[in-house]
Amino acid sequence: MIHDTDTREKVGLLRADTPASADLVHFNNAGAALPPEPVVERMVRHLRREAAIGGYEAADEAHDEIEACYAAIAELVGAGADEIALTDSATRSWLSVFTALPWREGDRILTAAPEYSSNIIAMRSAARERGATVEVVPSTPDGDIDLNALTTMLDDRVRLVAVTHAPTNGGLVQPVEKIGAVVADSPALYLVDACQSAGQIPLDLAAIGADALTATGRKYLRAPRGTGFLAVRRGVLDRLTPAHLDLHSAWLDDDRLRLRGDARRFELFERGVAAVLGLGQAVRYYRDVGPNWAHDYLTALAEHLRRTLDDIPGVTVTDIGARRSGIVTFQAGGVAAGELAARLKARGCNVSVSAAASTPWDMEQRRLDALVRASVHYYNTPDEVARFGAEVAAALR
Ligand SMILES: *Cc1c(COP(=O)(O)O)cnc(C)c1O
Repeated sequence: MIHDTDTREKVGLLRADTPASADLVHFNNAGAALPPEPVVERMVRHLRREAAIGGYEAADEAHDEIEACYAAIAELVGAGADEIALTDSATRSWLSVFTALPWREGDRILTAAPEYSSNIIAMRSAARERGATVEVVPSTPDGDIDLNALTTMLDDRVRLVAVTHAPTNGGLVQPVEKIGAVVADSPALYLVDACQSAGQIPLDLAAIGADALTATGRKYLRAPRGTGFLAVRRGVLDRLTPAHLDLHSAWLDDDRLRLRGDARRFELFERGVAAVLGLGQAVRYYRDVGPNWAHDYLTALAEHLRRTLDDIPGVTVTDIGARRSGIVTFQAGGVAAGELAARLKARGCNVSVSAAASTPWDMEQRRLDALVRASVHYYNTPDEVARFGAEVAAALR
């Protein structure tokens, strides 16, 4: 599909909204994607308005559009607008849910090998301070979580099952719906880190069976930096007491503490309103592009990139998983990942380095150190893949 005429035409229009794509090969979409022009324009316009009439006044003026941002995100993940909270990052979102659980001595946490380091750090800290245990569910030879092992490990002491949908260090896509079906029969809360999947894989909270899902704005959603959100199922909200409350998330009623009844109990009063409006614009843009088309196109392009890299002598693609995302990681014999990434940047190709410290368990299990990460988006093209392949080969000579 990546080569047909209709697709080329559509991608051409999307690239026109992304001026930097004219000369920069931006394969760092898992780091931060290039925002489309309407997102940038929306933010700049609001900053100008704040300067012209005042920050509170500009926010009042944008009130309906801010509310529409919740509705757009709710639609994006198949939730209700009252189940959405806006934050400043995926980690803030994930920590908000994690630290709101009533941890007790002996609670068990089940997670998987490719978990993100910041999540692991929070789990380890709960283990140290609250006496919880952190257990890694084994993976199948493909790299997916082993569903049979998960079924066996679940019991009434498991307080949380935390899984990353698309890990940061490669193409793996976890079977989150199947995991959800297994967890549904247990009292555990099921938390999905959708940081890399939001914007590249269509999401549906109910189909996944997740109690909570967290994501960032700047990656595949093409929203501004410093944005993120969480979705929490209505039915579990009352089991969650946020660690940080303020006059936006709670109030005092005759000196009794009352929490907001919706997911905004996870928010604080202050935020970058321009960034929120940019996030809303990015989510609407993605909806108009078409989440199913975006997924099919960018995963096909990533497969094309894997084949291109496989053909370069000395290059090894390290992706695992039965199903793959738009994230491609590889190693090149003899040249360290950081050095190769720097050479590629000098040649007009943005990639990033996936260090072992970002996904320590998986990298250690597979005896991998730093990897070059080339993550493609729907505004990237087969021509860019060809140029990238040539630049990698040249950078290795
Ligand atoms: C990038 C990433 C995060 C952290 O996102 P922030 O917005 O930087 O907090 C969490 N999980 C995964 C899988 C990621 O790739």
